[in-house]
Amino acid sequence: MNLVNLNLTEAVELVKRGELLAEELVLAYIKHIESLDKQIKAYLTYNFDRALERAREIDQKPAKGKLAGAIIAIKDNIITKGLRTTCASRLLENFIPPYDATVVERLETEDAIIIGKTNLDEFAMGSSTENSAFFPTRNPWDLERVPGGSSGGSAAAVAALEAMAALGSDTGGSVRQPAAFCGVVGLKPTYGRVSRYGLVAFASSLDQIGPLTRTVKDSALLTRVISGFDRRDATSSSEPVPDYVANLDAKLESKKIGVLKESKLKGINKEVAANYFASVEKLKELGFEIKEMSFPSWEYALPCYYVIAPSEASSNLARYDGVRYGLRVEANSLAEMYLKTRTVGFGSEVKRRILLGTFALSSGYYEAYYAKASRARQVITQEFKTAFEKVDFIITPTTPGPAFKLGEIQDPISMYLQDYFTVSASLAGVPAISIPSGFSSDRLPLGLQVIGRPFLEDKLLNFVFLLEKKLEFKNNISETIKYQRKEEE
Ligand code: GLN
Repeated sequence: MNLVNLNLTEAVELVKRGELLAEELVLAYIKHIESLDKQIKAYLTYNFDRALERAREIDQKPAKGKLAGAIIAIKDNIITKGLRTTCASRLLENFIPPYDATVVERLETEDAIIIGKTNLDEFAMGSSTENSAFFPTRNPWDLERVPGGSSGGSAAAVAALEAMAALGSDTGGSVRQPAAFCGVVGLKPTYGRVSRYGLVAFASSLDQIGPLTRTVKDSALLTRVISGFDRRDATSSSEPVPDYVANLDAKLESKKIGVLKESKLKGINKEVAANYFASVEKLKELGFEIKEMSFPSWEYALPCYYVIAPSEASSNLARYDGVRYGLRVEANSLAEMYLKTRTVGFGSEVKRRILLGTFALSSGYYEAYYAKASRARQVITQEFKTAFEKVDFIITPTTPGPAFKLGEIQDPISMYLQDYFTVSASLAGVPAISIPSGFSSDRLPLGLQVIGRPFLEDKLLNFVFLLEKKLEFKNNISETIKYQRKEEE
C-alpha cells in the first residue's frame, strides 16, 4: 500500500506503536508530492529536509506525542520559524519569521511534522486561491477548477493526499468553502478557541485557525491539540478543552436540527439545493426533528461582513509600509517610498479591500458604514442565540455551487457571493464545520455546513461523526487518487 493513503489517525497509531517509522511516511509524501504537485500546485514552499530531520528525531524518541508522524501542511499566513511565510503576497515574498505561531508550536510539541506551506489568496482575501500573487492552485477533482479559497492550497493538499491534514484560516469561510470544493472536512472553531498568535492578521475580530482533514476523527484529533488558552492572544479563551476524540461516540442528547427557510436558498445551484434537501430527508429518517429557522438577517450578513472585514484589514495591513519588514521599494521621499512599496507589493484584491475599509472608517462615513455594520453584527449574533434556544445544530449547504472553473468568476461581487452561507457563523463567532455530503452530476464534491453552539465543538464533532458514519458521507479520497493516477499514466 502507498503510505499516503493512511489517514492521520491510522498513521499516528502505527508510528506510536512502533510499527511504522515517521521517516518512511515523510519519504512517501515527498515522493507523492514531487510527482503530483506540479499539477495541483498546492504548496508555495516545501520543508522536506527539515521534515526528514524531524522524522528521524521522532523515530528515536521512546515516548511519542499525540501526533507522532503526522504529516501536516500549513497555510502560508501562519508563521513558521526559519521557514519562509509569504501570505501569497509579493510584499512578504522573502519573509523568514523569527518565531513560530502558537498552533505550530503545539503541533510540533506533539511530534507532528510540517511538510510545507500552502498557497492561498493573498492575505487570505478571496474564495478561489486565484488571488495568490504567485500562481493559482488547482482542484484535485478537476484540474480546470479552483480548489476554493482562501485556504485552497491546504484543502487541495489534503484532497490530493499531499498531506495527512492541514491548517487553514477562516475569516468568512476560508476553511469551510475550500473543504466543500475539495471533498474534505473543514472546521472553523469558536472565536477564541484557537490562538491567533502568529496568524498574520486579516480581520482580527473574525480570523480563526482551523483544521482541514480527510475524516471527522482526524479533525477531532487536530482540533484538540491546537485549541486552548494562550496568554499571547488577548482574545484567546480559557474555556477547558475536552477530549474531542474520546467524545466522538457519545450519544447525542438531543435531536433537534434547524434548517434555513427555502426562501433563503433562492438562486443557488440546483444540484447543491437537491443535495441539501436529500441530507435533510436522511436526517429525518434517522429520527432527527427538523425545525425551520427564520433568520431574518441571514442575507444581511454578507454586506455586513464586507464592511467589517475590509475595515479591519485596512488597519491591519497598514504595517506593510516598507519600513518594518517585507518589501521596500526605494524612492526619493518617505511618502513616495510608502506609495511605491504598497503599489508594487499588494495585488488588486488587497488594494480594493484597503480602499473600501479606509473609506468605511473615515470620519463622516464611519457611522453610516462601520458602526451600522457592527450593529447588524449584533442582530445576527442574537438570531443565533435565539435559534440555539430551539435547536442544537443548524445545517446549511456550505457553498451556493460546486467548484467553479479558473477564471470563471471575474467580478468581485460574484466572488463575494460565494460566502453567502459561511459569513454568518463568522460574524457570530460560533463554530461551524463543512463535511462532504455527496457529488454533483459531474463528480464534483459538495459540502454540508453544520453550525453549533459556542465552545461546544465536542457536540458538533460528535454529531458530524454520526453523519459521516450513518449517511455514508465519505469523502471518497480514494476516488480522488484514482483520478490522479489516470492523469499520471
Ligand atoms: N472569501 C472571504 C473573503 O474573501 C473569506 C476569506 C477568509 O475567510 N479568509 O474575505
